[in-house]
Amino acid sequence: MSTGIDIVLLTILLVIALIVGIVIGGMLGSRRQRRLQAAHLEDRPGTPSELARASGPEHQAVEAAPARPRVAIVINPSKIGAEEFAKTAAAVCRQEGWDAPLMYDTEIEDPGYAMASQALAEEVDLVVAAGGDGTVRAVAEVLAGTGVPMGIVPMGTGNLLARNLKIVLDRPEWALRIALWGKDEHIDVARARIEPGGKDHAFMVMSGLGFDAAVMADTDEELKSRVGWLAYLEAGSRKLAGHRTRVQVSVDDEEPYMTKIRSVIGGNCGRLQGGVMLLPEAEYDDGILDVIIISPKNMADWVGVAASILGRHKRRGIHTNFHRCRRIVVEAEEPIEVQLDGDAVGASRYLEMWLDERALVVRTATREQTRLIRLEGWPIPVP
Ligand SMILES: [Mg+2]
Repeated sequence: MSTGIDIVLLTILLVIALIVGIVIGGMLGSRRQRRLQAAHLEDRPGTPSELARASGPEHQAVEAAPARPRVAIVINPSKIGAEEFAKTAAAVCRQEGWDAPLMYDTEIEDPGYAMASQALAEEVDLVVAAGGDGTVRAVAEVLAGTGVPMGIVPMGTGNLLARNLKIVLDRPEWALRIALWGKDEHIDVARARIEPGGKDHAFMVMSGLGFDAAVMADTDEELKSRVGWLAYLEAGSRKLAGHRTRVQVSVDDEEPYMTKIRSVIGGNCGRLQGGVMLLPEAEYDDGILDVIIISPKNMADWVGVAASILGRHKRRGIHTNFHRCRRIVVEAEEPIEVQLDGDAVGASRYLEMWLDERALVVRTATREQTRLIRLEGWPIPVP
């Protein structure tokens, strides 16, 4: 008798457990479904951990195991933190549901061109430039026009493109997540030619001839690795007392004019270290090249130039002049140092700069990623 009641009770309990199980399972399932739908609604979810769960093994089994995306990382092994990042990159990719990354080290003779080309040949979904502005410039030049997106893991002194794109500067693993799941932005690629009809080079931030390039050429690399961009100030202070050079400037189809300059700098984006805006109106996706011409005669004039730059005046005084154009050609009466994104490339009497409009796809942080980084108290580059 009691055995019969026990069996009945046990059966009822089992049925209740079964019903509860089905109800809870259904609720969890629909929550998960909603989450997946939300992830699909946003172009890219931007919440790496959520997405890692959504693309985990069980999900893939249901949807016939889609191919995992693959990233190539072009890394400058001489940068501080490069070795450590190379190790963590594989773990981050695995966690985020990506294939193991293809890793390519840059070399002194090749800052990333052959490596990025090799990555393209491997048909990867994304190429990450992990290094300074030199690495970024080389990778960008190869990727421009291909539609393959570029991610940036900043490891240099200036990291100027990363700064302008507001990519997190001091958390390589987060910068990598931004590259993997960030949003695609089409940005302009600036180009420069240092002899008429010669080969052109891409640059992403600023290039120029004169004082700034002389400073880059003269900056002590060892000092730069120790004190960062302060090394530029040290070199700059030694170069301030130079003389002005007579140049002819041709802007778009306008009549060329003669002037005397210390520097001509063309830029795709205007933000320097410390929030200094050298080109306050520059935007990296407006198809317009912003140019500043600096022409102080003496130290007192330099003070005026510095004040107007730090004061972010859009149209400045007598020693600085601006152009917003599509193309500019500067022809000097004597060879002057030229720099491309901070790399000195030698002296030339000729510099032509123009833009390839929106030729490069870069990955930048989604709103959600920015929110998560803020939540964790990680500094974001702000002016
Ligand atoms: Mg622009």
